[in-house]
Amino acid sequence: MKSDIEIAQGANLVHIKEVAAKLNIAEDDLEFYGKYKAKLSDELWDKVKDRPDGKLVLVTAINPTPAGEGKTTTTVGLGQALGKMNIKSVIALREPSLGPCFGIKGGAAGGGNAQVVPMEDLNLHFTGDFHAITSANNLLAAMLDNHIQQGNALNIDTNQVVWKRCVDMNDRVLRNIVVGLGRKADGVVREDHFIITVASEIMAVLCLAENMTDLKERLGRIVIAYTYDGKPVTAKQINAVGAMAALLKDALKPNLIQTLENTPAIIHGGPFANIAHGCNSVRATKTALKLADVVVTEAGFGADLGAEKFLDIKCRMAGLKPDAIVLVATIRALKYNGGVPKTELSKENLQALKSGIVNLEKHIENLQKYGVPVIVSLNRFITDTEAELSFVKEFCESRNCEFSLCEVWEKGGEGGIDLANKVLTTIKTKESNYKPLYDVKLSIKEKIETIAKEIYGAEGVTYDPAAEAAIKSIESLGYKELPVCMAKNQYSLSDDPTKLGRPTGFTINIREVYVSAGAGFVVAITGTIMTMPGLPKIPAAEGIDVDENGRITGLF
Ligand code: ADP
Ligand code: MG
Repeated sequence: MKSDIEIAQGANLVHIKEVAAKLNIAEDDLEFYGKYKAKLSDELWDKVKDRPDGKLVLVTAINPTPAGEGKTTTTVGLGQALGKMNIKSVIALREPSLGPCFGIKGGAAGGGNAQVVPMEDLNLHFTGDFHAITSANNLLAAMLDNHIQQGNALNIDTNQVVWKRCVDMNDRVLRNIVVGLGRKADGVVREDHFIITVASEIMAVLCLAENMTDLKERLGRIVIAYTYDGKPVTAKQINAVGAMAALLKDALKPNLIQTLENTPAIIHGGPFANIAHGCNSVRATKTALKLADVVVTEAGFGADLGAEKFLDIKCRMAGLKPDAIVLVATIRALKYNGGVPKTELSKENLQALKSGIVNLEKHIENLQKYGVPVIVSLNRFITDTEAELSFVKEFCESRNCEFSLCEVWEKGGEGGIDLANKVLTTIKTKESNYKPLYDVKLSIKEKIETIAKEIYGAEGVTYDPAAEAAIKSIESLGYKELPVCMAKNQYSLSDDPTKLGRPTGFTINIREVYVSAGAGFVVAITGTIMTMPGLPKIPAAEGIDVDENGRITGLF
C-alpha cells in the first residue's frame, strides 16, 4: 500500500490558475507562489464581497486517538466528491504546524486518496504565513523588552509580562526560560516563556480579522504586560502595531491549492483546537462562501474543542451561520474510547465498540444543542468489519441521525458521493437554527461552567487561586463580555486524558485564565494542558529525508 506522501507525489497537478478558473477567479486576482500555489488578492475580495453566500458545512469529530480520526481526509474527500458531482464547491482548511509534522501525528494534508497537494510544501514552509506570524509575535516581544531596557516609561512590572515568544516547533525546553542574562547592556533579567506559533494570539488575530483595518485594531488591543499598579499595557502603547501589520500584509491573504482531483482548496491560518480556537481564517471562509455554492471547513480535534469554538467563537464573531455539521467517527476511535489500547485497534471487538459509542452519542447530543443538522460520517478503515459497521449505522439511525459510510481514503471523491448526497439533501431539506451555546453577557465563570457542564458533561468547575484572581481582575478591566476559549486535552471530554468514553461525575479544574483582547476572547486553561508541546521519544522527524533530486520522504 502506498503511503500518503507517495500518493501525493504521484498526483497529476494542474496549474493553479486552472483550479482558480473553476471558481471563476481570473488570473489577475491571483498572486502566484510558483505553479501550484497562489494567494487570493485583496482586489478579489472587493469584487466578490457583495455576492450572496453559499452554504457552510463544518466537519468535526468524536474524541480522537493520538493518530487523528480523518477529519481532514473527510473534508478533502467531500470536496472531491462534490467536484465529481459538478457542484460549485471549495474546501477551507487550516495550514499545518511543524510541531505535529515532526512530532507524533505527521502532516495535515488529509490522507490516502483524499489529500491536498503539493503536500510537502503545505506541511513545511508553504507560503510563509507561519513565519510571518512568528516574526510579528517576536517583534512585539523584542520591542517590549527593549522598552523595559530603555527606561521603562510605561512602568511595566517585569514580573507581570504576559506576552510570550513563539516558535513553530515542539520544543519543551523553551517552556520556561530566563532572558536578559549577561551585562547591563544585555537587557533586564526576567523569567520568560515560549509557546508554539499556533497558540500565539497573533495567529488568532490573523484568523479572526476581517481585513487590514480590523487586523491593526486587534493587534493594538493585545495586552502584553501589566504596570506596577495593575493597569494593562497594550501593543499599541509600545508603537508596535504598524510594523507587525507590515509583517503580516501577505499572510492575511488566503492561499489556494488543489486536491488530488484538482478541485479547489483554500488553506489559511492554523490555530490548534486544544490550546487555541482551532479554526481556519474568517477571511478565507468568507471568501470561500462568496466563490462557491457549498463550502466545507474543518475545526480541530473533537467536537468538544474545535466545533465548540467554531460555533461559539468564530461563527458568533464573524456572523457566520453553518448549515450542516459532519461528525466524523471511526470504529478505531470508538473502540479506543471503549478502553482498547492503541496497539489492539485493528481487531474486531463489538464489546468495546458498544462501550465506546457513548462518546459518539454525547457529541451528537452536544451538536444538536446548537440547532444545526448533524450527519455522522464513518471514516472506513480496511480493518473495520461488517458487524462493526452495521452496529454504528443502526446506532445512528435509531437516534434519528443521518449516517454515511465514507470511503474517501481508499477511493477518493468516488468514495464520498454518498456523504455528499446526504450533505446536499440535509442542506436542502433541514433548516439550520444555529445559535451559540451561551450568551456572552454571562460572567466569565458562568460561561466556563456552561461549556463544562453542557459540552463536557462535568458536574462542576474548580478554580486554582491564581485563576480565581485572574477572572476578578479581567472582569474589572472591562473584558467580562468576551467569549471563552477553553484550552483542554483532546482525548477526553474531561480535563483528564485517561477518562475516555463518556465520563461522568468529574469536575473540570481551571488552572490559569488570561485575556486575549486582540483575538477577542478569554482563555481558560484546564488540567495539565500546555501551550508548548514536546516531542515524543521517537519523533516523526527521525523518519524524514530528502534525496539529491529534492524528493522528500517520511512526511507520512
Ligand atoms: P484529523 O484531521 O482528524 O486529525 P487526518 O485526516 O489528518 O485526521 O488523518 C490522520 C491520519 O489518518 C492520516 O495519516 C491519514 O492518512 C490517516 N487516515 C485517515 N483516514 C484513514 C482511513 N480510512 N484508513 C487509513 N488511514 C486513514
Ligand atoms: Mg485535521
